[in-house]
Amino acid sequence: MDEIFTGNFTQQEPIPEDAIARAVEVMRSGRLHRYNTAPGEAGEVALLEQDFAAFTGARYCLAVASGGYALGCALRALDVKPGERVLTNAFTLAPVPGAIAALGAQPVFVETTEHLTIDFEDLAAKAPQARILMLSHMRGHVCDMDRLMEIARAHGLIVIEDCAHTMGAEWAGVPSGRHGAVGCYSTQTYKHMNSGEGGLIVTDDAELAAKMILLSGSYMMYPRHLAAPGPEAFEALKYDTPNVSGRMDNLRAAILRPQLPSLPDRVMRWNALYRVMEAGLEDTPGLALITRPQAEAYVGSSFQFRLPGRDAKAMCDLVARCAARGVELKWFGAAEPAGFTSRHDSWRYAKAQRLPQTDATLANLLDLRLPLTFSEADVAQIARIIRAEVLA
Ligand SMILES: *Cc1c(COP(=O)(O)O)cnc(C)c1O
Repeated sequence: MDEIFTGNFTQQEPIPEDAIARAVEVMRSGRLHRYNTAPGEAGEVALLEQDFAAFTGARYCLAVASGGYALGCALRALDVKPGERVLTNAFTLAPVPGAIAALGAQPVFVETTEHLTIDFEDLAAKAPQARILMLSHMRGHVCDMDRLMEIARAHGLIVIEDCAHTMGAEWAGVPSGRHGAVGCYSTQTYKHMNSGEGGLIVTDDAELAAKMILLSGSYMMYPRHLAAPGPEAFEALKYDTPNVSGRMDNLRAAILRPQLPSLPDRVMRWNALYRVMEAGLEDTPGLALITRPQAEAYVGSSFQFRLPGRDAKAMCDLVARCAARGVELKWFGAAEPAGFTSRHDSWRYAKAQRLPQTDATLANLLDLRLPLTFSEADVAQIARIIRAEVLA
């Protein structure tokens, strides 16, 4: 009898008890709005911003309603105009081109290498068309950030980092989100901290920080922030910056704050699962692992591998055979998007673009989540099933 995996690929861990207790206190207080604070009280959102700024080493931090809102807020703060071209990765998730398109701007997709990172040659070729690169660290793969920033500087590109999959990751000791002008994170359930929905933005730029705080809907309450520039930064902006409400509330911040000190521990556990998967799939004929550079400190919350040379029918068959044995693989090469697997040609609000290298990479790329509710034995079993089906 073939072994079958019975775990759930979308089951996250429960919210920690101390976070639940704090959330209950906030609810008992009735003060859920971030600016609804008692005398002398900072409020959970302001405290979370202070904590996350310290965690990333950023000067300023703003908590918002979602990761997608964070990306859009950064673009707005940089005065992206309708019709403007904004560079981004061809391999990313829908909220990224969505944030660009929501401003009436045009996503221009940059090719993907077989390491699942942005292609530097294609980036340099397309850089003269744009002012901004929204760099997506898709599935946690961090490109050579030193080289990337050199290219950006050479072309005068402003970099916004989409760190939805890299909260807690680093390149050469620098936290992901701290190379570009702005770093954007998501605290949605499937990311590295879980508040259902939520986003965080970091920057060292006082003007951008002030603008984003005003955009998020701070009214004239910005002096209550603890990770914001001083009131002088707001003076020149406060009458001219529209309110595009997208604040975080004290309830979500209360759920998140206790999860931050334990993030390094979760990263270690994710990476232990990642290594079990890697070891289980190593030396499987016909299966290519994604090599991770030495300078990258990644968070292995998901796992990708390629099956070079397999055609669409063989990929479909494999996904179906693994599914029959309880292993949910996502295939980014399918003609029709399913679940979260939409890709550049599914985003028809963007101009159609030729991306042969990305298409070739995605055509045989498979992806799976490694939730922390899986044990190392679970992951070893998943790897055995995948290996057996690849060899079948
Ligand atoms: C989840 C995600 C986002 C946006 O996050 P939301 O909080 O869901 O809006 C952005 N980029 C990538 C790559 C993501 O996976």
